[in-house]
Amino acid sequence: MYRERVVLLGVGLAIAASLAALAGMGYLGWQSGLRQEQAQLQRHAERALGHTREAFVEVGAAFEELARSTAAPCSPRHIEELRRATLGTRSAEDVAYFRDGRLQCSSWGNLRDHIPRAVVEFTTADGIGVSTRVQPRIRNAPPMLVLHRGDYSALVNPERLLDVLAEDDVRIAIRAPGEHLLTASTPSTASLLARWTKDSSGTAAGQLYGVSRRDGWQAIATRPLAGTTGRLRTDLLKLLPLALIVLAALAALSIRLIRQRLSPLAELERAVRRRQFIVHYQPIMDLRSGACVGAEALVRRHHEGRLVPPDEFIPLAEESGLIEALTDQVLDGIVGDLEAELAADRALHIAINLCAADIRSGRFLRVLEQALPHTRIRPEQIWLEATERGFIDIEAARVTLAQARAAGHSVAIDDFGTGYSSLRHLQDLPLDALKIDKSFVDAIGLDTATSLVTAHIVEMAQELNLHIVAEGVETPTQLDYLKTRGVDYAQGWLFSRPLPAADFIVFLRHSREAHGIGPEVIRRPER
Ligand code: C2E
Ligand code: CA
Ligand code: CA
Repeated sequence: MYRERVVLLGVGLAIAASLAALAGMGYLGWQSGLRQEQAQLQRHAERALGHTREAFVEVGAAFEELARSTAAPCSPRHIEELRRATLGTRSAEDVAYFRDGRLQCSSWGNLRDHIPRAVVEFTTADGIGVSTRVQPRIRNAPPMLVLHRGDYSALVNPERLLDVLAEDDVRIAIRAPGEHLLTASTPSTASLLARWTKDSSGTAAGQLYGVSRRDGWQAIATRPLAGTTGRLRTDLLKLLPLALIVLAALAALSIRLIRQRLSPLAELERAVRRRQFIVHYQPIMDLRSGACVGAEALVRRHHEGRLVPPDEFIPLAEESGLIEALTDQVLDGIVGDLEAELAADRALHIAINLCAADIRSGRFLRVLEQALPHTRIRPEQIWLEATERGFIDIEAARVTLAQARAAGHSVAIDDFGTGYSSLRHLQDLPLDALKIDKSFVDAIGLDTATSLVTAHIVEMAQELNLHIVAEGVETPTQLDYLKTRGVDYAQGWLFSRPLPAADFIVFLRHSREAHGIGPEVIRRPER
């Protein structure tokens, strides 16, 4: 249930994150696309402004040259000079000579109809008079720009100023100093130029624009935003299949990662790393005195506010080798929980369950050997329980158990009777105690074959001089039976369930008080 929720949540988050990343990329791509277009428009505006200023300089130079002419007005030599002035300037379509406000001759030659000179609308700082939107006499010709100085005027096609190799929907407007409009692709472009005098590029009123300004000369290039967004959208849509593939890959990857992290092994590894284990203690009772003489350390995992029983993780821990780290944490738990109790009462012992690998290798003995001298706990107070799973390599087991006893620990064979060769082990291995498995205790008082085996186990252990610990004692009948048979110790719900350390300490004190062992006797400081 929890796993599904985490997987769903994780995948949801991963997809949301990917979508957000995608949207972010889209947005950035969009913004950068817009900025590129704005920069492009600004370049168009700069170029248009360049053409314009060039035209004024060029025509101004031609006017100066003509003013110095010594040829008789409209003489062939003069007309030749007008022709050269026209051809020598890129922007002038025609250069003409006026007298008394009337056209006399131009690069075309002598002209008969002396049309009046166009009215000067404004004059630039260089002394060039300007008339805009002059309609030439030629059919279908666009309105022209006329530049004047002295007796000369030049006809300039404004299209040339706007000719900047721009895309079809780019519109340009140009103003001379003093905010005089020279030319504009459309009237609305001119009005936009009048509105934007600050930014050099941007987006406003549904238009992208770039403005260029120099010495009072201004040019603006605009392009409808709608076209741009359309283009960007198609660009981004082209990327969509790729983006979807990336998204799917990310989602698949995150599912895998989450699965991995949620795999029971990964979870257990994390639990070991985070030391999420605590130890509970199940009292072990001396059946002769009725007092608590020790406890078995039983590990539990703290997980999401509940305690996970060992059956749910010990098999995996054994299989994966994590059990060794876990056993070490159990020892740390015991030291932290019960060092004072164990130091105050030397008769008290704690039994630790050894894993199969440690029985084979003896590794945990070295851990104990290292750790115990730094504590007030004596080796005799640590009992070790070994199940038959650890006896597969019987030689190695024998060595480990012998070393354990030599170090002062007591060694018990756990779950006795549940394996195949319990009897052989009993004879071959150096043992101090035998723990009768709960299944045999359960059989007590029942008229079954197992109940006969129980009696047999007890007798055998006694013959071999082994202590006996009966596990899983739940009823007074079982207790009476075990007492009558001379069983030494018992452990089970009849006395207590496994307890958290603090509760176990309370249990221990009650047991001592009930048996007249005063705290002043056992509270003698050691060391
Ligand atoms: P075990 O070593 O045979 O431990 C005895 C189990 O029987 C404990 O279960 C205990 O709570 C339960 N028990 C005790 N008295 C009674 C009773 O009267 N009635 C019933 N029904 N059950 C009783 P727990 O704590 O769940 O441990 C289960 C097993 O997990 C242990 O069996 C042991 O094999 C393993 N285990 C627990 N802690 C450790 C550990 O620190 N290291 C290793 N290697 N194994 C551990
Ligand atoms: Ca045990
Ligand atoms: Ca057991």
